[in-house]
Parts: sequence; structure tokens; C-alpha cells
Amino acid sequence: MSNTPRHYDIVIAGGGMIGTSLALALAPLGLSVAVVEAIPRAASAQPSFDDRSTALSRSTQRMFEAMDLWPGIVAASTPIHSIHVSDQGRFGFSHIDAEEQGVEALGYVVINRVLGGVLQEALDGLHTVDVICPAKIIEVDLAPDSATAVIESADGAQQTLTCDLLVAADGANSSVREMMGITARKSDYGQRAIIGNLLPEKDINHTAYERFTEQGPLAVLPVADGRAGFIWTVSEEDAERVMALDDTAFLTELQEQFGYRLGTFSKVGKRASYPLVLSKALRLTATRSVLIGNSAHGLHPVSAQGFNLGMRDVAAIVDCIAESAMGNHGDFGSKSLLEQYSRWRRSDQKKLVRFTDSLVKLFGSGRRPLRALRNIGMLGFDLVPGVRSTFARHTMGLAGRLPRLSRGVPIK
Ligand SMILES: Cc1cc2nc3c(=O)[nH]c(=O)nc-3n(C[C@H](O)[C@H](O)[C@H](O)COP(=O)(O)OP(=O)(O)OC[C@H]3O[C@@H](n4cnc5c(N)ncnc54)[C@H](O)[C@@H]3O)c2cc1C
Repeated sequence: MSNTPRHYDIVIAGGGMIGTSLALALAPLGLSVAVVEAIPRAASAQPSFDDRSTALSRSTQRMFEAMDLWPGIVAASTPIHSIHVSDQGRFGFSHIDAEEQGVEALGYVVINRVLGGVLQEALDGLHTVDVICPAKIIEVDLAPDSATAVIESADGAQQTLTCDLLVAADGANSSVREMMGITARKSDYGQRAIIGNLLPEKDINHTAYERFTEQGPLAVLPVADGRAGFIWTVSEEDAERVMALDDTAFLTELQEQFGYRLGTFSKVGKRASYPLVLSKALRLTATRSVLIGNSAHGLHPVSAQGFNLGMRDVAAIVDCIAESAMGNHGDFGSKSLLEQYSRWRRSDQKKLVRFTDSLVKLFGSGRRPLRALRNIGMLGFDLVPGVRSTFARHTMGLAGRLPRLSRGVPIK
């Protein structure tokens, strides 16, 4: 790599689900963009485009439609026509239906690795975006007139990039966030999410199941070929034991938690586990730099919202940048742009962090006062008009003021 600094309009730290989506969303503006990613997309160690299944909300769908990427994504996804929420050991359940909500689908489930393939193909066709991979941002200098990032490739060679705006999309343990001088408040849920897929005996029929158990929530989602993806929350202490179970013992325990609504489970695939930590950045911007996606907020996957929330960060920052480009300001890291982004995103992020965190605490605790509350919660969920539809609107990502891309309006 050369040592002559190369200048870009925007440098994106992290080419995971959010960083790559941002690079694609910026394409119509014709700006010079670099994406610096530490781990190649197809590598088995890639932490973003892995074997998890992600439920895409309606606002994310609209964004991909506006970006002309939806046909490729929908072809690789499974629609959710209904969501079934239940509480282990209690009678009754809640049911959210696409038709009742007046939509074609409540969301679409896609495997991260598959989504990565579609996004990568689109990225390969862009001549305005340089993907620098594998390389890490190891040093950042934020000056009023320009941001500088020093990157290091796998062989130890270093290169300096300068830019108008540095975007940190390097995940919940963001080192770029630290280099920007922004602290994140973290709180460990003491749980891990075990993910994988299996074959249910009965047709899952486009239904997503969420079951609240004493250990935490368990989600079973429809994926391709009649299979179901699961996200099973277990306590940190128990995770190692559960991961070490052989397939038969694992399925027996999972079935005990889920019940037999889908008949007997079989043919479980490869499993992986993730620590569950709530993280919230105390600020969203520093001089000539912003946080988006998990670097700004890492959520519990209980309401399947982390990626979708991050996509709304993408939509908002793209709106701010487009406004600046069209107004011929030509400075994409100006103070006013950063303030606009921060003002816009704060409230949506705060609301969703609170909503998701309360959901985990309300339904995930065996303590008596909360047990009583969660009974009311479950009833209220189904019986109180408005509660369910507010939940559905959050699940679909339609609450609050929406940026252009989230409304499905192309950026240019
Ligand atoms: C079990 C589970 C299930 C989930 N299900 C859903 C769901 O159904 N719906 C939903 O909306 N969300 C879901 N989420 C959340 C979602 O996966 C995350 O919000 C999303 O992956 C965040 O993407 P990101 O690009 O911000 O961060 P990441 O996915 O963490 O990507 C960060 C990228 O930055 C790179 N990187 C790190 N450091 C550097 C550096 N210094 N320099 C360069 N590159 C760097 C990494 O290699 C990585 O590629 C789930 C999460 C979990 C754990």
C-alpha cells in the first residue's frame, strides 16, 4: 500500500451488513467512497455475513426497493405472514397478522450470508466505491477541515486515507468509536443467543414464533426449503453445556422449551452462539464523524430490530448527505450535517433501545412483580387496542418520522 494519503468524500469503517448497505445507498450521489473491512465477506470468520437469519422489516424492504436491490433480496428471502407470541407456562398467546395490519408481509427472513452475496454483487458493479479488504482502521485523527484514518492491511502495510466524513460501522465493539472519543454504556444481559436451523415436522407456513421462557426469548423463523431458523436465548452459565450437547439431546431440550406446535424437530444444522449485551453510545457524532448501526446501538435480538434500526441510521445519514450534495455545500462532514443526523436519530434509537430492553426484562424474568406484570403484558398485548399495532409498527420499522429511503423514495 502507498503512503500518499488518498482523499475520499466518505470513508466507511466496517463493511458488514450496515457499512455495505450505506455504500450502496450512497451510490446514486456519485461521491467517492471507501469501505474498509477487516474480514473478507466469504471468510468463515466474517462476523456480520454469517449463518444467522435476519428478519427484515417493512421499512428495510422499502429501502432496498428504493435502492433497486429488492428483487435479488426477495428472491432469497421467506415472507412472514404472521407472528405468534407466547409465554411458556401460561395460557394464551398473541397473534399479529399481515392481513389484519393491511400489509402483504410483516417482514422477510434472509440468511445473513445470502444477503451478503446479493449486496456484494451490487457493490462489485460500482466504480465510485473502493472496498479495501482485508484491512483495519488502526488510527483516527479528526480535524475541523478533514478526517484522517490510518489503515493496516493483513500483511502489516499501512496507508493513510483522508475524508470529509468518517462513518463508524464497525459493530458493537467498535474500536473506531473509541478512537472518536465516544463512550458506549454497556449492560450485559448474562445470556447468549444460540442460533442454527432445523426441520420442523409440520409446515411452518410463513409464521414467525416468539416464545418467552424462564431463560429468555426463543424465536423460530421460517426460512427456505421448509426449514426453520432458531434464535434460542440461554443463560450465560448454561450456554456452554447446551452448545456441547449432541444433536439429539440439543433438539430434545429445544423442543421442551418450544413445545409441539410445529410437531417434532429434526435435522439441526450447525450451531453458533452470541453474547447478548445492550450497548448505547453516549453521543452519535464527533468532529467529522458519525456512528451508525451496532457501533451506535447494540440490541438484544428479542424483537429482531438491530439491523433494521441500523438501516434507518443509513437512511438518515444518506438523506443528510444528499441534502448537502444537492445544496452544493459539498462538505459532508459539516457541523450542521452532524447535528441534523444526531437530532434525527436520537429519538428513534432511544425508543427502540427502551422498547427492546423492557421486552427482555418484562418477559424474561421469573421475579414475582414482573411475573404479574408480564401476565398483564401478554393480555394487554392482545386485548388493548393500539398496543399490538404499536408493536407491529415498531416491528415493521414504521414508527416515527422516516427518512426518504425508509419511505421507499429513491435518493436521486
Ligand atoms: C442472534 C442474533 C440475531 C439477530 N437477528 C436480527 C434480526 O432478525 N433482525 C435485525 O434487524 N437484527 C438482528 N440482529 C442484529 C443484527 O445482526 C445487527 O444489528 C447487525 O449485524 C449490525 O450490523 P453492523 O454492520 O452494524 O455491525 P456488524 O455486523 O458487527 O459488522 C461490523 C463489521 O465491521 C468490521 N470491523 C470491525 N472492526 C473493524 C475495524 N477496526 N476496521 C475495519 N473493519 C472493522 C467487522 O469485520 C464487521 O464486518 C441479530 C443479532 C443477533 C446477535
